[in-house]
Amino acid sequence: MINLESVLQIQTYSGLQQRMIIFIIKELVKRSVTYYIYNGCVYATKGIADSYPCVVAHMDTVHRICEDLTVIENEGILTGYNRVTQTQVGIGGDDKVGVYIALRCLEATENIKLVFFRDEEIGCLGSSDNDKSFFDDVKFVLQCDRKGNSGFVTNASGTILCSDEFMNDVKEIISVYGYSFINGMMTDVMALRNSGIEISMANIECGYYNPHYSNEYVVISDVENCLNMVQTIINSLNKTYKIRGNLDIADNQLA
Ligand SMILES: [Zn+2]
Repeated sequence: MINLESVLQIQTYSGLQQRMIIFIIKELVKRSVTYYIYNGCVYATKGIADSYPCVVAHMDTVHRICEDLTVIENEGILTGYNRVTQTQVGIGGDDKVGVYIALRCLEATENIKLVFFRDEEIGCLGSSDNDKSFFDDVKFVLQCDRKGNSGFVTNASGTILCSDEFMNDVKEIISVYGYSFINGMMTDVMALRNSGIEISMANIECGYYNPHYSNEYVVISDVENCLNMVQTIINSLNKTYKIRGNLDIADNQLA
């Protein structure tokens, strides 16, 4: 089984994601999952179906590659430590937690699509120039890329991510896991929607805290709760949730 600490140990930085790409491809090959690279991003499809749930994550972090990144666990909390400089360093839960959740979903789901995007932190470079046709048979897209443990983002900086029907169908599930709908900021699903993909998406708080800082930490129980919720959504929703257009009219009028 994919291990959270092993994924967090892999260092990546915007423009330098080769170690994570290699790790992901090894995991795909191990499970005979088909994949291809488009614009430096990994697009994977497991199983054969008419339509698929899709989970996406970004591979880069804002933390520079250092000589050593040791993941330390203390009472269910993970932090990054550099044994060479003997200082705390950013663990890169943003968004290696998302990569972990995507890979766990891959393990647990018969038919699923995944995309691992590059360079989200420097302007969503991977997701902005995406392979649109990959999403033609996707039911909905979930991303786990936000600090916290209770927010389910349905509107990102004015871009409506999902349809009312989708919100209606996930509402009860997310409340069981302690989540509620919130507005959020730019990430890959927003870039996907803005590129014209008319499928419902969401970004989900996934258990990392203080992202972009050296004192970033990851709460294991929050990650696992998020993972369980994502898997429940994948197993419960069986429709394709189309959404037309991509702008929140109310927000536009305010701006
Ligand atoms: Zn992120």
